[in-house]
Amino acid sequence: MSSKRSVYDAEPIPEAAREVVEAMMQSGDLFRYTSKISQVTLLEKEFAAYMGSKYALAVNSASSAIYLSMLCVGVKPGDQVLIPAWTFAAVPSAVVHAGALPVLVEVGENLRIDMDDFAAKLDGNISAVVISHMRGHTSDMDAIKALCDERGVPLVEDAAHSLGTLWNNRKVGTIGAVGCFSFQSYKMVNGGEGGILLTDDADIIAKAVFMSGAYEHNWAKHGYPEVPFEKYQNQFPLFNLRMNNLSAAVIRPQIPLIDERVGKGLTNYNYVAEKLNASPLISVPPADMRERRAPDSLQFNLVGFDDAQAMRVMEISAARGQAIAIFGMQGDNARVFWNWRFIGNVPELPITRAMLKRACDIRLPVGMSREDLDETVSHILDCVTEARMLIAS
Ligand SMILES: *Cc1c(COP(=O)(O)O)cnc(C)c1O
Repeated sequence: MSSKRSVYDAEPIPEAAREVVEAMMQSGDLFRYTSKISQVTLLEKEFAAYMGSKYALAVNSASSAIYLSMLCVGVKPGDQVLIPAWTFAAVPSAVVHAGALPVLVEVGENLRIDMDDFAAKLDGNISAVVISHMRGHTSDMDAIKALCDERGVPLVEDAAHSLGTLWNNRKVGTIGAVGCFSFQSYKMVNGGEGGILLTDDADIIAKAVFMSGAYEHNWAKHGYPEVPFEKYQNQFPLFNLRMNNLSAAVIRPQIPLIDERVGKGLTNYNYVAEKLNASPLISVPPADMRERRAPDSLQFNLVGFDDAQAMRVMEISAARGQAIAIFGMQGDNARVFWNWRFIGNVPELPITRAMLKRACDIRLPVGMSREDLDETVSHILDCVTEARMLIAS
């Protein structure tokens, strides 16, 4: 069997999951609330311990976790929620599901939130902030947290694709009131689908547990004796966003592997980034000393390209079997704010727009070997160089 990894591969599932999954196939015990301590409950305990948080709630996706966070921090219909203009469509969707209005903040070509725009837009009309650590790029969380605290606005972190990233030695997803992570197949931990919410706040976890679908007294199976569940009994609608035991069983044995995956991902990223940065046609956003990345993908900006040349990068790379995506040049890319027509009036954000028109996106699964990486680097350099030769008409 070849160990060659392509940029399209997901993380394999450890053998240790097999025995637990086999037993479940016999018992049929896939529902989290049948046994007193289920695979889902164990995942919550183990993940919270790994991250150093008090409480965890596993759900069926990070999108669900972000939506629950909106409701748990008190976002009401008609409220305004500040979000980055560069994020996955799940974030504005969660805000809209909560009946609120997303207010978009500019993201610069360094792929971090523009702090002047953030400070200006965090006014008295904002009820909550969601920060997306998009593709592992961390914005200035010290400044963001300080501004939110000063103005009394709850901060939610969408760390869906940033598991293992540190900001000033703190794990991202544990800085705000709530942190949300994804176990969808193309993230650092592969559960097929799945998400988890972390918090240290007993009221937030109580509300989230109920709304995720802990009907009747199923909250008792979460085993948090100090959480005031009884106070909130029957106070919230149920959305049934629960995780099932099969997902938890394939996720659990991957938790002890996160640190190793992060180390490999970072080594791979630095190797590829250095080679790409040697080309005058490419600029990889510079590192920030306060951030330790946990990348399983790489983003780079095309330098001095016009639209036609940028399009050509996508065409040539796709024709050669390894597509280089440019966020804002791909029709209907879900990470491009002008495609979020469901939010109503899409604002004009020139800084983010310019970034999206030249920012390229490739996956770098952590299992890639040096050979795999070298092939990817040559592929990128070839495509970019050839596309640049196109004389714009
Ligand atoms: C993947 C991702 C999501 C959504 O995660 P799901 O588990 O698929 O719902 C949200 N935000 C970001 C930044 C993501 O990368």
